[in-house]
Amino acid sequence: TSDTGVMLRIDAVSKHFRGVKALQDVSLEVDAGQIRGIVGPNGSGKTTLFNVVSGLYKPTAGRVFLAGHDVTAAPPYRLAQAGIARTFQNLRLFGALSVRENVLVALDRTRTRSIWRYALWQVGVWRHDRALRADADAILARFGLTAFAHSLPGALPYGIQRRVEIARAMAAAPRLLLLDEPAAGLNGEEVRQLGDIVRSIRASGVTVVVIEHNMGLVMSLCDRVTVFANGRVIADGPPAEVAVKPEVVEAYLGD
Ligand code: ADP
Repeated sequence: TSDTGVMLRIDAVSKHFRGVKALQDVSLEVDAGQIRGIVGPNGSGKTTLFNVVSGLYKPTAGRVFLAGHDVTAAPPYRLAQAGIARTFQNLRLFGALSVRENVLVALDRTRTRSIWRYALWQVGVWRHDRALRADADAILARFGLTAFAHSLPGALPYGIQRRVEIARAMAAAPRLLLLDEPAAGLNGEEVRQLGDIVRSIRASGVTVVVIEHNMGLVMSLCDRVTVFANGRVIADGPPAEVAVKPEVVEAYLGD
């Protein structure tokens, strides 16, 4: 197809909420194996874009393609099956489950909606699946979470909780990982570790799109950056080139 080498293609997507034009005719392409940064002032449409790509919102107009397949407005669990995983700005971990159980629930053997996986977990269908547990433990080890396997997320430092969310997203074995402000609330050392984690995810063959306000991280991590303002793409390119464009500087002055 014409999408060879392109993992995500957004084609003329608009999303309107009554009077609010959250996205206006947005097009962008993310090559497979890239780390793409999405930046822009608050309210510029970044999270709305993630919500469209992950199926939480149906676009008002336009199409979304994953590896050349039209996935526009597919329900979230179908998009998860197709290989899209995401994290949220506000953490969404299961508070009553341990870190290991949070990862286990996400190891999607049944390929169903997460609420059903959670229900199956509760009735104990999976509790004795050794292979599943071994997979969960491998993911915990990969993300440096083995020591926290039996803790409840809420009892852990915020930076560790953020890492659990990434581990849980990776448990679904995605092709495309969407990270919504992963550095928010992290200290300098944790931001550095986050950079290493995202690079290791990319090295494993996963394409990453990251909404991020921490410009130091964006500059050091991303291959390309797409800048949003008022629901539109105003610049796109390598981080060092984009950062000095007058329209980008101007968009940020008003933030
Ligand atoms: P960003 O992530 O860049 O801060 P958002 O995508 O969250 O921006 O928001 C873009 C615009 O869309 C804002 O004006 C926001 O208020 C509006 N918006 C987002 N989601 C909704 C919604 N569910 N209902 C109404 N307006 C929304």
